[in-house]
Amino acid sequence: MIDEGRVVLPGDKVAVTEELKAGDGTYEINGEIFSSIVGIFRIDRKKMIALVEPITSVPLVIKEGDIVICEVKQIGDAMMICRILHIANKKRQIAGEKDVAIHISNISEEYVENIGEKFRIGDIIRAKIIKAEPVLQATAKEKEFGVIKAYCTNCRNPLIRKNNLLECRVCGSVEKRKIADDYGEGDIDRGD
Ligand SMILES: [Zn+2]
Repeated sequence: MIDEGRVVLPGDKVAVTEELKAGDGTYEINGEIFSSIVGIFRIDRKKMIALVEPITSVPLVIKEGDIVICEVKQIGDAMMICRILHIANKKRQIAGEKDVAIHISNISEEYVENIGEKFRIGDIIRAKIIKAEPVLQATAKEKEFGVIKAYCTNCRNPLIRKNNLLECRVCGSVEKRKIADDYGEGDIDRGD
């Protein structure tokens, strides 16, 4: 079981049903409880329920240099658009719905022909804001940036890292991504 108070992502395992029941912000599969949202893991000890609370409070302005956790929403020829879910080390809500653009030249240190070779829609990634105005732009180039959590394109289960590839333990699919060096460790507050 993970520590209470930790920020978790959709698909992160938070507890097992031998210990707790699945509450708000979670779901259960085969005796394991997973987070269904980006939020803070809590335990209701009276009822022995696992909960994930949405991250709320003061709206936050995004600045150049911020490390952001985003979900890939759209992939084009020249750039991809990601929805910002969280700013590292700031347990506050983002003001409005914020999208960030990542240009193909900022996807990887290697030459990239198609962004779709490195990222897929629905991937959770870590990136750094390089421009805040007039539109937010980020880079995923360095080794700490890239995908931190990806879901199987066949069955949507979280993919497990196997060397430099990602594998689905449910359907066996093997996929490629530009992964961050800590893929799968789930520390979304790294950076800063
Ligand atoms: Zn699968």
